[in-house]
Amino acid sequence: MTVEIARIPVLDDNYVWLMHDGVSGETVVIDPAVAEPVLDAAAERGWTITQIWNTHWHPDHVGGNAAIKAATGCTITGPAAEADKIGTLDRTVGEGDRVHIGGVEAVVMEVPAHTSGHIAYHMPSESVVFVGDTLFAMGCGRLFEGTAEQMFTNMGRLSALPDATTVYCAHEYTLSNARWAVTAEPDNTALAARHAEVVRLREQGVPTVPTSIGVEKATNPFMRARDAAHFAELRASKDVFR
Ligand code: ZN
Ligand code: FE
Repeated sequence: MTVEIARIPVLDDNYVWLMHDGVSGETVVIDPAVAEPVLDAAAERGWTITQIWNTHWHPDHVGGNAAIKAATGCTITGPAAEADKIGTLDRTVGEGDRVHIGGVEAVVMEVPAHTSGHIAYHMPSESVVFVGDTLFAMGCGRLFEGTAEQMFTNMGRLSALPDATTVYCAHEYTLSNARWAVTAEPDNTALAARHAEVVRLREQGVPTVPTSIGVEKATNPFMRARDAAHFAELRASKDVFR
């Protein structure tokens, strides 16, 4: 891997990701919910933020855009389909577009459903994907602006990435997802083991993100849905789970 990626926990359960390319000196922030902790985290490392990449318009993903841009002069890239809602974008992108940190490329995937224009950034050379609120550890995003069919398609596209791909989600939802997931797949021994591990980690306050495509394919009921109807049942079950 060429780039270095740092986790910045902010608000209740958001993770902002800070990615640095030592070759070009570029630093990209993915989904800055807020500005100050992100600017501080970059400064601590001696990194200067040159870009922001947004996955979707929700305030806990774009809230820091304006202040980080004012402080650094960085450029902001985000989904063309949500440009009207975000307002601070310098560049709008959609399916198959390429964005770069120095010489390292990310390919944009359109993954609508959580929001109608949600995108992910896949970096094949780094085996990394930034999924925003589309895929979580043992969970997936709520269907605020899309359908179960769309999210089922997204799960299939993400499942098609190499198993070793590291998945950077935007929230620490793992424990509550795990509690539900073991009820959805009571006979899945890999899932039962992961649930126990996550309980232990969260008791110690240890982050459980990033995850990987391979781990999610083995233990995430949403990634394992047989078809869109099955996916819809799972999503409905999770929506009311307490
Ligand atoms: Zn969201
Ligand atoms: Fe979010």
